[in-house]
Amino acid sequence: MPELLQIEPSPPKGDWRNPKVEFRKGVFCYSAGAKSLKYLGLPNPREWQPFDADWKLPPDWKRIILDGMKDRLNKYRSFRLFMDICVRCAACADKCHFYVGSSDPKNMPVMRAELIRSVYRRYFTLTGRIFRGLAGGRELTEDVIKEWFYYFYQCTECRRCSVFCPYGIDTAEITMIGRELLNLIGCNINWVLEPAANCFRTGNHLGIQPHGFKDSIDFAADEASEITGLPIEVPINKKGAEILFVMPSADYFGTPHYYTLLGYLMLFKEIGLDYTLSAYASEGGNFGLFTSHEMMKRLNAKIYDEAKRLGVKWILGGECGHMWRVLHQYMSTMNGPADFLEPPVSPITGTRFENARSTKMVHIAEFTADLIHHGKLKLDPSRNDKFKVTYHDSCNTARGMGILEEPRYILNKVCNYFYEMPENTIREQTFCCGSGSGLGTDENLEMRLRGGFPRANAVKYVKEKHGVNLLTCMCAIDKATLPGLMDYWVGGVDVAGVHELLGNALVMTGAKERDTDLRGEPLAAAEEAVHA
Ligand code: SF4
Ligand code: SF4
Repeated sequence: MPELLQIEPSPPKGDWRNPKVEFRKGVFCYSAGAKSLKYLGLPNPREWQPFDADWKLPPDWKRIILDGMKDRLNKYRSFRLFMDICVRCAACADKCHFYVGSSDPKNMPVMRAELIRSVYRRYFTLTGRIFRGLAGGRELTEDVIKEWFYYFYQCTECRRCSVFCPYGIDTAEITMIGRELLNLIGCNINWVLEPAANCFRTGNHLGIQPHGFKDSIDFAADEASEITGLPIEVPINKKGAEILFVMPSADYFGTPHYYTLLGYLMLFKEIGLDYTLSAYASEGGNFGLFTSHEMMKRLNAKIYDEAKRLGVKWILGGECGHMWRVLHQYMSTMNGPADFLEPPVSPITGTRFENARSTKMVHIAEFTADLIHHGKLKLDPSRNDKFKVTYHDSCNTARGMGILEEPRYILNKVCNYFYEMPENTIREQTFCCGSGSGLGTDENLEMRLRGGFPRANAVKYVKEKHGVNLLTCMCAIDKATLPGLMDYWVGGVDVAGVHELLGNALVMTGAKERDTDLRGEPLAAAEEAVHA
């Protein structure tokens, strides 16, 4: 039995309002380095770590936090509403994967929100100002700040809890405000701020410069050419192309993401798409979402800027999670309106993507599903016969924007063996991978494995019932973190993008006979595995 299954289900003793957190190895993320804070112009750059006794907060940290709360209570009606309307019915309590995996009561969404709500009551309500603790209020102390840091970085902002709240309280938004407040006094994590600083400088998380970007893309184009026997070139910064394609940078520097990139390139070649990549909008992901509303806006601006500079008609986006949450929920008002672009129309099928009329940006799964629906692609699903496939709905694309049917439609056309996980673990009720919102660091591995436990458990179920050996998804963070999660809890289940399987199945005009998949592994061996 995995060691992490041994959890202590009884609540801790003592008053929950006394904050005491232990920054134990494996359950927290390292702080952001001074260099990244300076680069982004954030306050209080210094070297410190969460396990230090002295966090070197600014002398007036309390005033900064309370002023910040006041600003946000005035600015975001949702924040004030969420502070006021919770009736503590506990419908959300057991819906959080971190609570399920850790049994820590403060990981119940209602309790996570209460960490900040208790301070709200004390300083921003009349009864709290008069009766303090008796009215459920709590003094703001340095220990409360440490507790906020601990628990707001044990929430992946996945919004599963909000699906079950009868009042529609979105604890993810409360976490976002909590993190934003912590930022005001220089408390952030490195896994978020370093990619954000890199993005600000070069356009992508790793800080890859334009020539490095071109090398990576050329390498992928060569490999796609070799697999298909067809000349495949990928335009970069091509002015006047019809479509700008934006993807998460992991697609060109990580695996298994890279095979998804090969799938896109083969698809675009087959349909003769007039598109371009941008060497600056070389990252769809946006770690600003995990920092502050302002940072999210700063980092996202490059997508419209590059679309304008290159003179494209509309934008197509690749397989990513939080990139789509930002685009779908905020982009058109935050960085738009993008009046210089046209409402997206597929040049192959003529379909007008009315849902993207405002953002002018279409998800690759919508685009591909539409091509298949109109009979524009020749597919051989038997090429994926070695796989028994299931699909993990990424929180951001499923709950954040409602893409539920398109990936399933594609998967059912490109493979012969597809099995759903149990109903209460997919679609709107999907369980998070446990590593989203910037928590995918190695030092945080124990908490990631705990948080990912409910997802892994559902995969284990379909593995045992149907022999599932491949978990597909459409999110760069999922592709990076699910393999480790599968190894720990399930075993024998690989991870792939939807467009990797599409690339395997795509029968391309004039292409050479294929006997390997996009990973260079034999197609036939798989068949034997499934039918054995
Ligand atoms: S379900 Fe909603 S109202 Fe009920 S405790 Fe949770 S946040 Fe509060
Ligand atoms: S948003 Fe997700 S991680 Fe955060 S409290 Fe809700 S269920 Fe838990």
